[in-house]
Amino acid sequence: MSEDTTSENPLLDERGLPRFAEIETRHVEPGMRALLAELARELDALERSVEPTWQGAIEPLERIGDRLATRWGIVGHLLGVKNDPALRSAHEAVQPEVVMFGIRVAQSRPLYDAFVALQKGEAAAALEPAQRRIVDVLVRDAVLAGVGLEGAAKERFNAILTELAELQTTFSNNVLDATKAWSLVLRHRHELDGLPESALELAAQSARAAGEADATATLGPWRLTLDQPSLVPALTHLRSRALRERVYRANVTRASSGATDNAPLIARILALRAEEARLLGFASFAELSLATKMAPDVAAVEKLHEELRRVSHAAALRELEELRAFARAHGQTEPLAHWDIAFWAERMREQRFAYSEEELRPYFPLPGVLEGLFALAQRLFGVRIRAADGEAPVWHPDVRFFRVDDEAGEPLAAFYLDPYSRPAEKRGGAWMDECVGKSRLFRSSDGRARLPVAYLVCNQTPPVGKKPSLMSFDEVETLFHEFGHGLQHMLTRVEYGLASGIRNVEWDAVELPSQFMENWCYHRATLLGFARHFETGKPLPDALFAKLSAARTYRAGSMMLRQLFFGVVDLELHHRFTPDGRETPFDVEKRVGEKTAVLPRLPEDRFLCSFSHIFAGGYAAGYYSYKWAEVLSADAFAAFEEAGLENDAGLRDTGRRYRETVLALGGSLPAMEVFQGFRGREPRTEPLLRHYGLLAAA
Ligand code: ZN
Repeated sequence: MSEDTTSENPLLDERGLPRFAEIETRHVEPGMRALLAELARELDALERSVEPTWQGAIEPLERIGDRLATRWGIVGHLLGVKNDPALRSAHEAVQPEVVMFGIRVAQSRPLYDAFVALQKGEAAAALEPAQRRIVDVLVRDAVLAGVGLEGAAKERFNAILTELAELQTTFSNNVLDATKAWSLVLRHRHELDGLPESALELAAQSARAAGEADATATLGPWRLTLDQPSLVPALTHLRSRALRERVYRANVTRASSGATDNAPLIARILALRAEEARLLGFASFAELSLATKMAPDVAAVEKLHEELRRVSHAAALRELEELRAFARAHGQTEPLAHWDIAFWAERMREQRFAYSEEELRPYFPLPGVLEGLFALAQRLFGVRIRAADGEAPVWHPDVRFFRVDDEAGEPLAAFYLDPYSRPAEKRGGAWMDECVGKSRLFRSSDGRARLPVAYLVCNQTPPVGKKPSLMSFDEVETLFHEFGHGLQHMLTRVEYGLASGIRNVEWDAVELPSQFMENWCYHRATLLGFARHFETGKPLPDALFAKLSAARTYRAGSMMLRQLFFGVVDLELHHRFTPDGRETPFDVEKRVGEKTAVLPRLPEDRFLCSFSHIFAGGYAAGYYSYKWAEVLSADAFAAFEEAGLENDAGLRDTGRRYRETVLALGGSLPAMEVFQGFRGREPRTEPLLRHYGLLAAA
């Protein structure tokens, strides 16, 4: 009964693709503990014998990190796609040990000393640029993990990180608790006028869960909450203005009073982050955040923010006037308030672009969409994708397996596609993750580098009866998006595992290849090339395509301005704000709102108290990344527009150049150099503004 030995535990079999048919929850704890013990011994040995050379320091480190990442990655993957309470508790049981191991590696002084000696020594001259970048990044990350601190400073640093982790968890729990604490039970059908059937069903279900055993969608009672699936339809569709106001006010004051008040936590988190940054020698937390990103400095981000703000503010003002006029024309006598915006915007959208998701679905059966996507990849990047179902074990019968070859038939990569929603066991949303990355350290028996393998996971509509999965347009865009991440992972030419594929790519540049692919969903020849009715084979009507394209820029100024507001507030709080009492974080929010919102913010607005992205998630002084990467992806697509979207040879050449830079170089060079390698210049904002119809206003 020694399930934990490497040879008998399928989770630990490193010889081929993961043995998904055999890996079970009972393998997780013993397997991971056995592996961690083995890797800890290897790390001990490495710390004793480490040498300032590539083979003496970097390769053993990659080997240790990769073995942990791939095995733990399988567990994390299963947690996402095949979740159940037993797996969750096995994951929770081992996670602290995995985290501790990671911290030990990150703060290892002997390894750090070897990296620095390698960086500064004679051996550095013999390193390739990709190797040099890996060493530079290892040194940088060790410094940011506090390896250079001594004595009291180190103790203080570690204490700050511990307290921050706790505060961030409390912040997020407060948001959850405050969200749960608010609900509104309604017993008269007319109060819910306007709410679509699906939202009524959800509201009745929510009432049943809260003890109203007989609640039905038709007869009620109905329970509204601040959860997104309840909140968004309420603000968008409820005809009762008074009810919308109640819901709106409850939402913007979430977690701002009583036992779940996040205001004191915000002040403390900001103060600790500022102190952490000072200990590491940075003037602000924003500067610390940017030390690992593509954006060169705070000034560069502020310049981008301001440029986009000017344009989108002007557009948002016009859009607000338009909406006011529309609301007046449709019977609203009161001045337009915050709780009217989503409602009237949706009415105006219905009037202008009268088409429904349901009308589009028949044109997007999954097999046809995949064919179109793969044909595009072949046209642009010269890769062939073929179904290889059955060649790899899978975790669910719906999961597909594909291989990617170059035009000469040489294998390049492979990927799994898990397309359909399975609410009982699969996390929501869509994502790309790596199964294994490209690496020459893990050669096959014929001496070739290990090929990259990706997981593409979506949550789209499953097939019903004999009908294939008929995708909404959103679902098509999502598939293209994740496939774009997958291409960067799979088409890498870098064979050093620490910088191949998406590894080591700066955080604010990661969404470049994914958002780039979304643009092709609006490319007429591409979309009309594959959008065919699943029964009649007829192509998508021109009129529908025209509406789809027009809807893309609907209220684009207001949308962009809202994102900019979040980004600017985040940066102000982590760069200029000092917790000396002269100004509160809410004053900062108000000050930013004066320039970055078109409708004055409510004085009692406490949206910061539920801004989990920056106070509980990884977006602190990084919210700007959404826009930063969008500038890159739009500008990259513009290179194809310049080559001529109808010019096949031009698209092909530009596609090959994109493949050899953005997709092939990954994290082996700074993202700015990679981008310049493709574009021949620094990124420009003009294409993003043009795609959103905001250029004329500039
Ligand atoms: Zn993405």
